[in-house]
Amino acid sequence: MQRTAAVIGSGFGGLALAIRLQSAGIQTTLIEARDKPGGRAYVYEVDGFKFDAGPTVVTDPSCLEELFELSGRNIADYVELMPVTPFYRLMWEDGQVFDYSNDDEKLLAQIAAKNPDDVEGYRRFMEFSEGVFREGYLKLGSEAFLDFRSMLEAAPSLIKYQAFRSVYGMVSSFIKDPQLREAFSFHTLLVGGNPFKTSSVYALIHALEKKWGVWFPRGGTHALIRGLVKLFEDLGGQFILGQKVTRIEAGAGHVMGVQLADGTEIKVDTVASNGDVVHTYKDLLGHHPRGAKMSKAMQRKSFSPSLFVIYFGLKKPHPEIAHHTIIFGPRYKELLEDIYSGGGLADDFSLYLHHPTATDPAMAPDGCSGFYVLSPVPHLGKAPLDWDKVAPKYADKILDYLEKRMIPGLREDLVHMSMFTPENFRTELNAHLGSAFSLEPVLWQSAYFRTHNRDDVLKNLYFVGAGTHPGAGIPGVVGSAKATAKLMLADLGASDPAAWPSNGGPRLEAAQ
Ligand SMILES: Cc1cc2nc3c(=O)[nH]c(=O)nc-3n(C[C@H](O)[C@H](O)[C@H](O)COP(=O)(O)OP(=O)(O)OC[C@H]3O[C@@H](n4cnc5c(N)ncnc54)[C@H](O)[C@@H]3O)c2cc1C
Repeated sequence: MQRTAAVIGSGFGGLALAIRLQSAGIQTTLIEARDKPGGRAYVYEVDGFKFDAGPTVVTDPSCLEELFELSGRNIADYVELMPVTPFYRLMWEDGQVFDYSNDDEKLLAQIAAKNPDDVEGYRRFMEFSEGVFREGYLKLGSEAFLDFRSMLEAAPSLIKYQAFRSVYGMVSSFIKDPQLREAFSFHTLLVGGNPFKTSSVYALIHALEKKWGVWFPRGGTHALIRGLVKLFEDLGGQFILGQKVTRIEAGAGHVMGVQLADGTEIKVDTVASNGDVVHTYKDLLGHHPRGAKMSKAMQRKSFSPSLFVIYFGLKKPHPEIAHHTIIFGPRYKELLEDIYSGGGLADDFSLYLHHPTATDPAMAPDGCSGFYVLSPVPHLGKAPLDWDKVAPKYADKILDYLEKRMIPGLREDLVHMSMFTPENFRTELNAHLGSAFSLEPVLWQSAYFRTHNRDDVLKNLYFVGAGTHPGAGIPGVVGSAKATAKLMLADLGASDPAAWPSNGGPRLEAAQ
């Protein structure tokens, strides 16, 4: 008899898991509460502008290609990935600009211009980053950590790469220039981590980007999501859109299926949740002792901050603005402390500016440009602000700053503006405390210490996505789907996961 599975949520993690299960012959039903798939990778289409809601920096295309190769398909038949150069433009208030890319000659020249001694330091940092990338990402990035033994097995690597030190601390041991230290440590923010607290293991992001580049799908990140949905449906998967799962049916040591908001019951052999981990245990399983217990335990954990995002369209093109710009404010460490530990909004900010029309002009009407600007802010547990009141004023402040620093005439040219606040993360994505990236990626909440990819008590309940190992970001959640799929298929006796392309095989070779 054909085995069946339900996956709750169609974020990158849920989609990748559903594709893996369906590719292995498990009849899979994917259920999404919102009216469009993608989760954080939602899209807003307004007045001819396409605004990707969340992820825009696509790294490690090989983890996406692999999803198509499982069934002998080719990603290029579903979506076109375009290279982005520079990867990021970094700008400081003193007028300094640094274009960060994998063009070594240009990169080293910019480093030398800041501090000649840092060229050698950067080379040693790069060696460190490549080592931790191989150990931490290629070997362990898609392996589940279900017991403490698995953590002990990883211990030698963690010690070798001084995982107890922070990314910023590690970068500073190689590089002296203060702005270069920021340039090579800010990446943890893209997965919700404070560079001063996040384990040095995350320095791997630098090597990952340099090896495989930064990409943007033609038509935006949501075109990639649509490609993944099409792949899932081409494989025979069933996708239910616009239906919230309200309950996971559970017995003594196992789950039996899910119930939807309209009362429909779906009985399956196995269930995986891509929803927020607190939401899953508290709201979907709160009726079961395991749900009640885990929901309390989860709420004691530390969650990553939230984000305030403004999507805006201008009636003029801006060819001078790079696709991805990081705009550093006057403070770095102190601002991060305010965001991660403070009780309100700081007066200053550091921003990420997304300008998709730099790579794909079709993301806006002819002659126009589309943007989003993002400011990391404390989550609702740290700063319980009334965002309905705060948002318009905070948006004004950010747009004034952008107009003064980067986009003269912004207000006059503005033809669209909308916002997404921490409160929206909470209500629209069921995100605990409105966190943008789920559990904070600190060492004591990583690997074995993160939500297990399979529940310890309910033996056919699984998790996938940012709250599980390895964590947030597209490569992270797609890696978590691989780890979870291996467990599910082995438990169902469905296929030999060892026969699948391995992270340690061709991808490791590609990285060398
Ligand atoms: C603004 C922003 C920018 C980012 N930029 C980048 C970037 O440039 N590059 C990068 O790699 N990463 C980036 N990230 C991080 C990355 O987007 C996320 O870590 C990743 O997309 C999360 O995927 P996920 O699988 O955890 O699922 P999510 O995206 O969290 O999706 C979960 C889905 O589950 C659904 N769901 C929840 N509960 C239920 C229920 N009860 N019933 C049915 N459905 C339910 C939700 O509606 C949602 O669709 C960014 C994140 C944000 C917020």
